[in-house]
Amino acid sequence: MTAEHVNGVKVIDVLLAESPVKTPTGRTIHFKRMVELVLEDGSTVYGCTECDYTDSALGRIRSHLSREHWTRPVPRKVTGGARRSRPAATVDVAGLSVADLLNSAATQIEALNDALQRVAEDRNTWKARALKAERAMAKLKGLLS
Ligand SMILES: [Zn+2]
Repeated sequence: MTAEHVNGVKVIDVLLAESPVKTPTGRTIHFKRMVELVLEDGSTVYGCTECDYTDSALGRIRSHLSREHWTRPVPRKVTGGARRSRPAATVDVAGLSVADLLNSAATQIEALNDALQRVAEDRNTWKARALKAERAMAKLKGLLS
């Protein structure tokens, strides 16, 4: 269950966390298992939908989810005994693989989004440093001329 209080401050709204990455058509992607919690004091934190874990960084919620709530799909055993009207192996494999594929794809998309977010944050840090260095260079040029 998602946290109802964070450090004693009441949660007043729960929103699906937005991915910093958009679809190729520009649509916003929302995570299904990570939420943004709006607290009574106006601040926001991210939370896990499976338990009351919260963190200021979305990436750490992602890590928490894969660490604490990852459930590997249990493959169904196909027993050779009773014959079914449909080929048992085909039904089981098809049913499992769709669920597994969707589950796996969702997990991988979220992991990719997190990786992209880290790259974007890194880029912003370097961009800020480059702009600061450019300003410093311009100031130096101004002093020398
Ligand atoms: Zn959790």
